[in-house]
Amino acid sequence: MRKWKCTICDYIHEGEAPPDTCPVCGAESSAFVEITESSENPVSVAQTVGAEPSFAESTEQAVQSLLSETTLKFHLHPITVHAPNGIIPMAFIFLLIAAVFSVQSLDQAAFYSFIFTLLSMPAVLFTGYVTWKHKYRGALTSIFKMKIAASIVSVILLCFLVFWRMIDPDIFSAGGMPMVIYLLLTLGLVGAVGLAGHLGGKLVFKTGN
Ligand SMILES: [Zn+2]
Repeated sequence: MRKWKCTICDYIHEGEAPPDTCPVCGAESSAFVEITESSENPVSVAQTVGAEPSFAESTEQAVQSLLSETTLKFHLHPITVHAPNGIIPMAFIFLLIAAVFSVQSLDQAAFYSFIFTLLSMPAVLFTGYVTWKHKYRGALTSIFKMKIAASIVSVILLCFLVFWRMIDPDIFSAGGMPMVIYLLLTLGLVGAVGLAGHLGGKLVFKTGN
């Protein structure tokens, strides 16, 4: 059985020919290279997306490459994503309890949780961008488009939820339709960060459809 490797995400396919699209990242069949016993480091047939500089030419570049190297070496993206992926579902549960049992302190706790998560987003997005650019060569295949879309939706929803609560601190004590809408938007946020995390897991563990 012949083996083919996706040069974007390293997924291994077994068969006479490479798949039409990579079941993990969605790359086209041209991104696959055949693995033979003599080709331990196959050369990509896909278009290359920017070459990394061999050395830093200026202080700015030195700082940039240090940040990138640190991000990749210490796996900072999977670490930083724990903020949105861990805290947002917790905040949603707090808000549900606040809505059902009128516990105002939990509504406050959810608000602070949203603020903390919003503050963590620059680190989440930066480490995600660096990982995508270096580890996946900045390829814009379907999985990365979905991840980018989920991130944009997450940031917009998070900003909206924080600013709405700042303008109207009584959403939960007043109850009614605004509270229901706030809860539904929070649920949408749980879905968006959950989707981004699910796709990240798919890339890491190379699980196909
Ligand atoms: Zn792939």
